[in-house]
Amino acid sequence: MRESLRNIGIIAHVDAGKTTLSERILFYCHAIPRMGEVGDGSTVMDFMPEEQKRGITIGAACISCFWQNTRINLVDTPGHIDFTYEVDRIVRVIDGAVVVFSAVDGVEPQSEMVWHQADTYHLPRIVFINKIDREDASVNETIAAMRERLAVLPAILTYPLIDANKKCIGLLDIVTKEALFFDATTLGARFERKAVPTELQELTDTLHEQLLETVATADETFLEVWLEQSWTVKDLTQAIQRATQACTLIPVYCGAAKANIGIQPLLDGVIDFLPRPPRFEPKTTKNSLPETLGFVFKVVHHADERICWLRLYRGSLKNGDPLAISSTPNQAATIHLYRIDAEQILAVDEAHAGDIVAVAGLLAQTGDTIQTQGQSLLLDPLPTPSPVLATTIEPKHAEDYPQLAEALARYQVEDPSLRIETMESGVYRVLGMGELHLQVLVERLIREHHIKIHATTSSIVRKESIAKTASASMRVSFEQGSLAQYGEVQLTVAPRERGSGNAIHLAVNPPFSCDTSPLINAITTMLACGLRYGAMVDVAVTITDMQAVAGKWTLQGLCKATVDALTEALHKATIIALEPIMQVTIVTPHETMGSCLTQLARAHATVMGVDEEATCSHIHAEAALLDIVDLPTSLRSATKGRCPVLMTFTRFDHIPR
Ligand code: GDP
Ligand code: MG
Repeated sequence: MRESLRNIGIIAHVDAGKTTLSERILFYCHAIPRMGEVGDGSTVMDFMPEEQKRGITIGAACISCFWQNTRINLVDTPGHIDFTYEVDRIVRVIDGAVVVFSAVDGVEPQSEMVWHQADTYHLPRIVFINKIDREDASVNETIAAMRERLAVLPAILTYPLIDANKKCIGLLDIVTKEALFFDATTLGARFERKAVPTELQELTDTLHEQLLETVATADETFLEVWLEQSWTVKDLTQAIQRATQACTLIPVYCGAAKANIGIQPLLDGVIDFLPRPPRFEPKTTKNSLPETLGFVFKVVHHADERICWLRLYRGSLKNGDPLAISSTPNQAATIHLYRIDAEQILAVDEAHAGDIVAVAGLLAQTGDTIQTQGQSLLLDPLPTPSPVLATTIEPKHAEDYPQLAEALARYQVEDPSLRIETMESGVYRVLGMGELHLQVLVERLIREHHIKIHATTSSIVRKESIAKTASASMRVSFEQGSLAQYGEVQLTVAPRERGSGNAIHLAVNPPFSCDTSPLINAITTMLACGLRYGAMVDVAVTITDMQAVAGKWTLQGLCKATVDALTEALHKATIIALEPIMQVTIVTPHETMGSCLTQLARAHATVMGVDEEATCSHIHAEAALLDIVDLPTSLRSATKGRCPVLMTFTRFDHIPR
């Protein structure tokens, strides 16, 4: 019989405790012999030196473990905004998520963002409120913030057991109305259930009644048995499971990963409430689905070999099976299968629908659909990232060029949120999502490839467009080699709505019948390179006339005339720069609201709205990235670091300067 399975991601704001929690889960599931700590760089999931040095997660890491005879494929994700793409590709393939909030910081802006990333895929979630061992922890505030900002219905299943000295010594199990004490000598691996201390019985009863009412609100079947007072614990569990999977209820567990409190009940929740795969069948307009169907969501390299991380949606795979890849349709691949075990991969013989596996032998890209040969279904692609910062890189020694080129090409394959452009001078321009993203790339180049490089400080990526409509015509007749080339072209360029992309239209046919794709390609390439600031976008190009010159014409002549006419028309239409515009969210206590608004005004930001809550306000603003590069620093000094700020890319737009 096939084993039972859960594909689970751990997602949250940076520093909420995801990696610490993953490490506990693996230890209690006996997947690792001892527990590492983020602080000393000893966790299995943060295995890259760049992660250990900073104490943060950069790449999503996957590992399997067993709980209640069920295999859990666990994926730890980064929380830093520069690595959002890493979260995107994970929420795309998992079946459920554990979202971690810190009871000290509540629902932070980045947590809100990952919450909405998960909303996109209707991902069932359970919440772990971490750090309840801290004196400044507030579970109630965190739950209130969940209701207010995430508009969800939280169902509290475990709650901190606080003693007379205000110290967290265990948990209250709100379903069974018992107290749970975690044994420090086994690092929390063992725990005992005891009667709730008398002074906490009232609190436990109240929370229990609230839980029943909450579940009854979310699930009609339970409402009936609850009203009749005939419900059983099984009714309750099943109702929570249904409501969680319908995304109408969020089970909430409390705990302290670092203090080894509350992990096992959370693991029970993963098994009891989160879905077993396959959660959904891929949507398709075709009548028949391929027998085998999978999605490549990550590509890494192990000792020079390309390894694709694959979520298998249908069928099963065996070593040596031939498969078709969507991005390279004519290439059939013969595969070798592995299970991902953090830094390592372990050979396996087969994989089944629902599984997450690593596959060698596939020259696939992130976002590729993999299927039975001869079929051509395409699963939804991943969102396209928009890099906003760029740095130029060149080797210190000219002989390192080939190695640098190869290394950069490899990073580009692994990370689609990086873009690598070769400049005319042979220097590489690397575009990334932020300062840290680019810094990590440079460090990895030096460490993994031993290449000494010059990297410039990063600059903001710009694009360009035009301000008005303009026309130009160009007539060429020139010699190329021994051949004479002729052509005359008239064209018009016009601005299009921001964000709508380019449109190319031939209003006339060439003076002779020929394949017009070289003309279109010439225009596309020219727009992609741009003329002054960066790629030209949101422009309509219409070729209004094409003529022979003195009765003669050639396709090459027409292409050259087109490029020249386009250059002239774009210049006449006034080229304008487009800059990255960021959405800025600042969380501030009421006292520092004024300082935050002052800092935003200095940065020419437009305040779009303020959400006031009991203890703090959320300021939403928009500003050009160029104007807010220093905002986090100035805000930190103006408010003594009390106001977290989140800046996310929204669009490229023109700012008159
Ligand atoms: P991540 O960025 O979400 O992966 O968070 P980490 O697991 O790296 O943890 C961030 C910091 O919080 C580290 O210094 C941890 O030691 C600390 N931390 C994690 N869990 C707890 C907890 O339950 N209680 C306390 N007091 N600290 C914790
Ligand atoms: Mg981490």
